[in-house]
Amino acid sequence: MSLLTLRLKKNEERRIQGGHLWIYSNEIDTRHSPLQGFKAGDLALVESSQGKPIGIAYVNPHSLISARLLTENSKASIDENFFRERLQAALHMRENLFAKPYYRLVFSEGDFLPGLIVDRYHDIAVVQLNTAGMECQKTHLIEALLSLGMKTVYFRNNSSIRSLEGLSNYTELAVGEMPTTLRIEENDVPFWISLTEGQKTGWFFDHRLNRALVSSLANERRVLDVFSYVGGFGLQAAHAGAKHVTFVDSSKTAAEFIRQNADEQNARARCEVITADAFDALNQLVQSKKQFDLIIVDPPAFIKKRKDLADGKKAYWHINQLALKLLAPGGMLASASCSMHLSADLLREILHSAGRQVGKPLRITHQGHQGPDHPIHPAIAESEYIKMLVAE
Ligand code: SAH
Repeated sequence: MSLLTLRLKKNEERRIQGGHLWIYSNEIDTRHSPLQGFKAGDLALVESSQGKPIGIAYVNPHSLISARLLTENSKASIDENFFRERLQAALHMRENLFAKPYYRLVFSEGDFLPGLIVDRYHDIAVVQLNTAGMECQKTHLIEALLSLGMKTVYFRNNSSIRSLEGLSNYTELAVGEMPTTLRIEENDVPFWISLTEGQKTGWFFDHRLNRALVSSLANERRVLDVFSYVGGFGLQAAHAGAKHVTFVDSSKTAAEFIRQNADEQNARARCEVITADAFDALNQLVQSKKQFDLIIVDPPAFIKKRKDLADGKKAYWHINQLALKLLAPGGMLASASCSMHLSADLLREILHSAGRQVGKPLRITHQGHQGPDHPIHPAIAESEYIKMLVAE
């Protein structure tokens, strides 16, 4: 199959030849290869300014990132086989890392599959196609996932990133059956979750290591899990011997799952669920002079776009300051951020400032990050997004 050609401007091939995967519109020689010549998702042969082939990318003329490289092999066929090989490499890595088949199987650029997210729940694959380029490869991807032994392929194509690519949102059960709820295990703790009603693909796999870390600090502690979702942190803390756990989340569905999951490990009597806005709930707890020994703060991304940075920083500061007011002497705060635009340095500054403001100077004891099923592409800083600092 002959491909359209995407030619780069002089010197703009260096980043790609250095292993990066993104091509911005201003890097393209549009006199030679006008972007209007491409439909969203078209495959293209990428050439240097000299006309030397340097790989195959998919193109979206409507996106700020105009093309994402799929392979440096200009002769490759982008077909089921191509995706099967990439998926097999991703699977192999996870099988070496984890004993149980619950993990993020594909993490986009981190697995050299830009725009593709696959979460694996045993033989169920929950897929997010975040770019037009990946949307166009849907049939190949389904076949490749089935060849890996998946029985169910469910598309949860409803992330906010899709609109940047001009894609509408939808969900679709493409193959197999989808249970309404599902039991998974993480760090040997069982959880019931919903893959269709839940957030993201149903479970936030990215905090696996951080949950293990926090659990190791939980024995005999009074724990507060803020932005708890279905209780990933707090229930693992309960499993590790926490004296009592208070969960705060605004979602009623999340609250039901927390109760069910607490029952599952016979910990209901030690668990309390507050369904409310976290800022309001923490203010209330401060007013009633409550104290906790271990507090987890894991908010949704307060900074979705770079322009939200100033407001987002204030929100992180505010919620952490409230949490610190609730911390008993000698207590530990585990504060996380999943905003790609908030660096670990900035999170540290925010905690430092919030701690000084409430008269509790902090000492940072641990630094956490996303789990190994979310591999960081060494040339793409944006693929590192989870930060967690634990402070005394
Ligand atoms: N800590 C969780 C993941 C948190 S995701 C885990 O380990 O799995 C963020 C959560 O914040 C979601 O469950 C969402 O319902 C909740 N949320 C978002 N805005 C909120 C607010 N203002 N107050 C309380 N909860 C909120």
